[in-house]
Amino acid sequence: MDIVLLGPPGAGKGTQATRLQRALQVPHIASGDLFRALRQSDSPLARQVQEYMDRGEYVPDQLTIEVVLNRLAASDAQDGFILDGFPRTLPQARALDGALDDHGQRVDVVLYITAPEDILISRVAGRMICPQCNTIYNTVTKPPKVDMLCDNDNHPLERRSDEEPEVVRRRLSTYLAQTLPLVKYYREKGILHEIDGSAPMDEVDSVVNEAVGLGVVS
Ligand code: AMP
Repeated sequence: MDIVLLGPPGAGKGTQATRLQRALQVPHIASGDLFRALRQSDSPLARQVQEYMDRGEYVPDQLTIEVVLNRLAASDAQDGFILDGFPRTLPQARALDGALDDHGQRVDVVLYITAPEDILISRVAGRMICPQCNTIYNTVTKPPKVDMLCDNDNHPLERRSDEEPEVVRRRLSTYLAQTLPLVKYYREKGILHEIDGSAPMDEVDSVVNEAVGLGVVS
């Protein structure tokens, strides 16, 4: 099953992607993670990507499409994937459709997760992630048992430089201008499932499970 997670930063896409990856045994491919990995290399391209990310702007379509489609071509993504953070623009969505179509595939389900802006900002500003297992924590809603250490593997947790409230606000306005048109695009295809990401976690989980045809998973 080919799944796309759509929604603003802080809506809970990463949390659902990690859960679905376990349940469906297909890779979780996050465009932001691909860029963060690319940024580690010391190249002019890496510095350019870093600048876009630090400003809370989107990386240009051509580069984004190349990076993500290249990852989707890997063998582990041939029997399904969970795309998180891509597509974010109409040209990206069309490029994805075209690439899948070439292999007789298509996006099966789009999970559109939303929440009010104040909730998004407070969630993102308190967020920490384990770089080892990708578990997401939050200083208020889901603190780790030991300060700044992952409950699962004791790895030190990290905060992201683009999660300062000012950058988050900029990321949200970029999202509204450039990504919101995708809601209409996927709704017209009849594959969009709108999910209230501010609902209690178990409610969100069960709506998501139903949308992807899963029974009860933890
Ligand atoms: P994320 O981890 O998904 O919030 O992405 C972090 C940053 O990576 C974004 O603020 C953008 O600068 C960049 N990025 C990730 N995915 C995309 C995309 N599909 N299109 C353009 N830029 C992206």
